[in-house]
Amino acid sequence: MENVADYFGENVFNETVMRARLPKETFKQVKAAIEYGKELTPQAAWVIANAMKDWAIEKGATHYTHWFQPLTGITAEKHDSFISPAEGGKVIMEFSGKELSQGEPDASSFPSGGLRATFEARGYTAWDPTSYAFIKDGVLCIPTAFCSYGGEALDKKTPLLKSMEVLNKQALRALKLFGNKEVTGIRTTVGPEQEYFLIDKKYFDERKDLIYTGRTLFGRKPPKGQELDDHYFGVIKPRVQAFMTDLNKELWKLGILAKTEHNEVAPSQHELAPIFTTTNIATDHNQLTMEIMQKVAKKHDMVCLLHEKPFDGVNGSGKHNNWSMSTNLGENLLEPGDTPYENAQFLLFCSAIIRAVDEYQDLLRISVASAGNDHRLGANEAPPAVISIFMGTELSEIFECIASDKPYGSKEKEILKIGVDVLPDLPKDNTDRNRTSPFAFTGNKFEFRMVGSAASIADCNTVLNTAVAQVLKEFCEQLEKSKNFADDLHSLIKTTIAEHKRILFDGNGYDDNWIAEAEKRGLSNLKTTPDALAHFLDEKNVRLFTENKVYSETELFSRHEILLENYSKLIHIEALTMSDMAKQDILPAVSSYMTYLSESIESRRSVCPDIGSLYEDETLKNLGKLMGDAYAALKSLDSEIKACEGLTDDVAEAESYKAVVIPAMNALRTAVDSMEEITSSEYWPLPSYGEILFGVR
Ligand code: ADP
Ligand code: MG
Repeated sequence: MENVADYFGENVFNETVMRARLPKETFKQVKAAIEYGKELTPQAAWVIANAMKDWAIEKGATHYTHWFQPLTGITAEKHDSFISPAEGGKVIMEFSGKELSQGEPDASSFPSGGLRATFEARGYTAWDPTSYAFIKDGVLCIPTAFCSYGGEALDKKTPLLKSMEVLNKQALRALKLFGNKEVTGIRTTVGPEQEYFLIDKKYFDERKDLIYTGRTLFGRKPPKGQELDDHYFGVIKPRVQAFMTDLNKELWKLGILAKTEHNEVAPSQHELAPIFTTTNIATDHNQLTMEIMQKVAKKHDMVCLLHEKPFDGVNGSGKHNNWSMSTNLGENLLEPGDTPYENAQFLLFCSAIIRAVDEYQDLLRISVASAGNDHRLGANEAPPAVISIFMGTELSEIFECIASDKPYGSKEKEILKIGVDVLPDLPKDNTDRNRTSPFAFTGNKFEFRMVGSAASIADCNTVLNTAVAQVLKEFCEQLEKSKNFADDLHSLIKTTIAEHKRILFDGNGYDDNWIAEAEKRGLSNLKTTPDALAHFLDEKNVRLFTENKVYSETELFSRHEILLENYSKLIHIEALTMSDMAKQDILPAVSSYMTYLSESIESRRSVCPDIGSLYEDETLKNLGKLMGDAYAALKSLDSEIKACEGLTDDVAEAESYKAVVIPAMNALRTAVDSMEEITSSEYWPLPSYGEILFGVR
């Protein structure tokens, strides 16, 4: 048996490799770049590039690439080989410091949301030394940020790194208030739990909807779905286990801390969770995990579906973004601690998060908005589109008592004094966990559950980091002037909770009553992507990002445009795919089946007039009616698609896809799914939900 510890991280140019291969001075520079964001000198870059190349070649690599995360949400790479011509028709393998530090991919084919029109088409990628280089499929991959020549970020990584920096600054400032001088850096940490479906490749290949859109656009519910709860945490099937074993190995080689794996609620649905790490690395790792899941699945003749809603009627897939803040000394700032001092600090950070989530609930919602995720949020399986925070019984009570000067606890009946009193022991593993809350405190971290399974976690963490940094900044400005820190801290927390307690909700987030109650509380309920995006450029949001220098105004406008465009394009593709499948496969198949039915009725009548044909007669009649419905729905879908194609305004276009095209798609689906129910499976042109969902054995 191979020992995991022996090959863990073997394809990563990590600290151990660097320590062994770099001169002491250069290694120190890299460490400073990683820890304090210090820029590397060109000389150091040359030395590192050379060492990286030698290491990569020893491992069989022939090419390198600047690996980046453009606004498509997936990763991009363009491979260059190390070869350089040498005398005598030979080549030598070269890789310069310049090639390591900066690349120049043509930016013109990546979404730039208008930036392209005003700026040069060229873009450049710059090495992010805080994330290690690695080898994937014989290519040395260098994690980079991607910008236009005007300096605008064209990727998801740059704003994320900036947001981590502002949070670092403001959280350090907050720690200083408590007299903490030892801590020199604060990072946010993330552990994203990734859900996915695994289906047999042979069924995938037979469905255009899965091929073009990653989800099924038609499909009748099978007799058995997830109602028995027999899949969740159930025994993992041998074929899936073989996949998971392979997947873990590939991830471990890349230094990704894949930790838990289990079956999820829906049949064929699974989850993988890594051990948490620094947010930008967690983001890189999650992108790699999604990519490798898909590759490894193919090797096992399966397809990994990362879409948020591949199948109607069973749960969709999300990604739980577990988030916390941690000091360079390893202290988790969301750990309540057990002294009055630690408790006070913890309560200050919690209050900042509560206020940030309340004030920027729309931005958090926007950060997870996509056509795919619209199917999940609020669909009684994932958190609703309304954002609220679950703090757990004890903390909620503590906050309630602080906010309203009520005595805390049954015995002493004393008013809890922040900075003086010790909090009661909070259950470590917040076991009364509320799984319906979009944003839940789970003992020493918050779990944001609205993220879609296919999304990059860069977006939501950029919002979270920036919003919390902004509130901490305002807190610090106030407290730094304080003459009586303990008192002022107490009253700051008190007013913060009093002003923002509308966002705290410990009940069932799936309950309709909650949605009504949330509305009364004035919480926003942005049900769809266009609804959410309408608030992206609200003044307070633009101010948040520009003042903290996480996005420029131009970048925000361009991102808004890209998000709208993406939404419209996706639904356009789905609508066209539906129309194609209906016209080319489904209606012709049902028509043949109807011919078969009528011929069998005819022939039976001619041979044996007394034998009834009730089943055939009725089925034929019902299919005839449904065919009429389906055809009418198809025609109206086609004309709505045409109408949308003529629109030029991005907002109007997205609105129209939402308000007109989606309902037309639903009408077609309803008719087709009803036909599936009464059409012989011999004639039905698509593998059924039952076959797909229970097909991996
Ligand atoms: P559950 O499924 O019950 O929510 P899991 O154990 O599957 O819990 O997932 C919890 C996730 O939270 C893991 O990825 C874990 O590494 C992560 N996590 C734990 N502590 C922290 C932390 N301090 N910061 C960020 N993520 C964390
Ligand atoms: Mg979870």
